[in-house]
Amino acid sequence: MRLALKEAEKAFDEGEIPVGAIVVKDQRVIGRGHNQVENLNDPTAHAEIIAIGAAAGEVKSWRLVGCTIYVTLEPCAMCAGAIVLARLSRLVFGAFDPRAGACGSLMNIIQDERLNHHIDLTSGILSQECSGILKSFFQTLR
Ligand SMILES: [Zn+2]
Repeated sequence: MRLALKEAEKAFDEGEIPVGAIVVKDQRVIGRGHNQVENLNDPTAHAEIIAIGAAAGEVKSWRLVGCTIYVTLEPCAMCAGAIVLARLSRLVFGAFDPRAGACGSLMNIIQDERLNHHIDLTSGILSQECSGILKSFFQTLR
């Protein structure tokens, strides 16, 4: 999660909402990403999407079975969908997102019984740090 926070710091420095993600397999980081929606003018350029794409490229497979994704903020509906499609085994996130979170807050896409893949979930890891960087970002905007 510390590495995911490092990614969030990159987003912060680039004027993006500071969210970071990393994908880990066998204790090794195989993908990392930070939010780049503004700089890429791409509404889908969330940290998770970038990290998953990088990880799939690294292992040359779209199936990320056995991999864990660490994200500083609870994934949204799009990213939760991508986590299911990528067959990730485990999600660990930091801060809850009561407004858009789709992994427990508004809904729980990654553990929906109707879908064919379910993901182990650990939430609230380093949540103070993960939400703190978001708070300081929005404070600097004011
Ligand atoms: Zn997202």
